[in-house]
Amino acid sequence: MKFKVAQCWDDGVYTDIRLIGILREYGAKATFNLNPGNAPEETRGTSWGRFCEPPKHWGYRGFDAGKIAVKDWKRVYAGFKVASHCWKHEVADRVPAGEFVEAAVKARKLLEDIFETSCPGFAWPCGISTPETVKLLKEAGFAYGRTTRNVDDVTACRETLTLDSNCHFADNKFREKYMRVREQGGIFYFWGHSYEMMDCEGLWDQLEQKIRFISEDPDAEWVDVIDLVPYCGK
Ligand SMILES: [Zn+2]
Repeated sequence: MKFKVAQCWDDGVYTDIRLIGILREYGAKATFNLNPGNAPEETRGTSWGRFCEPPKHWGYRGFDAGKIAVKDWKRVYAGFKVASHCWKHEVADRVPAGEFVEAAVKARKLLEDIFETSCPGFAWPCGISTPETVKLLKEAGFAYGRTTRNVDDVTACRETLTLDSNCHFADNKFREKYMRVREQGGIFYFWGHSYEMMDCEGLWDQLEQKIRFISEDPDAEWVDVIDLVPYCGK
């Protein structure tokens, strides 16, 4: 059996377009976690120079990330999996649980309409969940909910509604963690935001090297996040 690798990216930002170019070049699978309530009418590019803070401007260190309009999602994310990241990036412990789950389901339904496929995945905005929202999301039929915690063994997760990953894409131990999981024949799962690479060529190059390294690994195979669910809690 091949060693499995999965990745996901959050927030539907403009830099996903560049990221997707790299993923397509190396035949890598990925899931994009999207929040329609914060998407602009028109796709907006990136720029420097304005001080901005998420979630209003989806900025990072002064880099205004820009976001992709919902009407462009089907074209931009074609061939990749998409998942709910709530409607307006609601955070589980900051809004009433019922309202939170309604927002999560509303985003999922819109994604299912746009992409004409089932989208049972979820990524917790800011990585935050509560016992009540976990229970409600499960009842609503979500198959998993990604946190932002790092673990050594993703498959040890007993509750896929709080599914942890191995690391963030920019983790300085990324390769070390990858090799460790690879040796054990497990699953390696990483996540991030494409805007964290800003327009810094060095960061984009590092990411491209990682994607190429994995795609050229004869013992590895890219899978989607949803494919991890059956391996968890065994
Ligand atoms: Zn987010």
